[in-house]
Amino acid sequence: RTVYLNGEYLPEDEAKISIFDRGFLMADGVYEVTSVLGGKLIDFEGHALRLQRSLDELEMQHPSSRDDLLEVHRELVRLNDITDGMIYLQITRGSAGDRDFAYPSKDTAPTIVLFTQAKPGMADSPMAKTGMKVISIADQRWGRRDIKTVQLLYPSMGKMMAKAAGCDDAWMVEDGAVTEGTSNNAYIVKGNTIITRQLSHEILHGITRAAVLRFALEAQMKIEERPFTIEEAQGADEAFITSASTFVMPVVEIDGAAVGAGTPGPVAARLREIYLDESRKAAL
Ligand code: PLP
Repeated sequence: RTVYLNGEYLPEDEAKISIFDRGFLMADGVYEVTSVLGGKLIDFEGHALRLQRSLDELEMQHPSSRDDLLEVHRELVRLNDITDGMIYLQITRGSAGDRDFAYPSKDTAPTIVLFTQAKPGMADSPMAKTGMKVISIADQRWGRRDIKTVQLLYPSMGKMMAKAAGCDDAWMVEDGAVTEGTSNNAYIVKGNTIITRQLSHEILHGITRAAVLRFALEAQMKIEERPFTIEEAQGADEAFITSASTFVMPVVEIDGAAVGAGTPGPVAARLREIYLDESRKAAL
């Protein structure tokens, strides 16, 4: 694989960063994951905007412009011959050469890394047909989940807890209500209404979420942005998640209880189809 590091395209085993990098020592960094379908970038604009917001919230310098970033994404797709897959981008605060809690001075160069992950046929994932099973776990992350930082240890633990329970993911619960999945936004469906938690510091503002809600409104569905409990989700007609890497994915079981008929429902299937069609058309 060819990867990108601080302005250079390199073979992956030649890309090296300092052991003092604050991304490594302190998880002082942000990231984005953009999917590629048919060699084109899905929702690039949304990811570029959220990246800027994450950097601003952490007073971090953006080492690149939106146009240069688009070019780097496209070049990596070309160099690695990616048809379907993902591009991972990470920017950390870099380092002034030692460990220190205080940020280094503003002129310290950030570290920017991008790499590709090929996922042939990712839009035809068999899970879209079978649906996924989730467990609920306490949300024990920090309080600024709207900033897409690389501190992913708790979500990682959550995935392991799900795996140990024979499930695919975990929905995190705080003050009695679902916040989101370990790496996705969570939804339930009742009749023609889609219910998902409102935006706040408690959840990541999903780029796929924004697009899917827009398409749902255009398709005359109703949207309620509010918290919901696990019990309400278990009694809903349908449940699903969204993320850049899974698009729209049905959830058929929560803590061992079947949701609706226990099979993927029509609303999630329709939204998945619309999302894939529309975002392919708008891909860059
Ligand atoms: N919520 C969390 C915690 C995530 O990590 C992610 C994606 O990685 C999402 C939601 C979905 O966001 P997006 O649709 O922008 O991929």
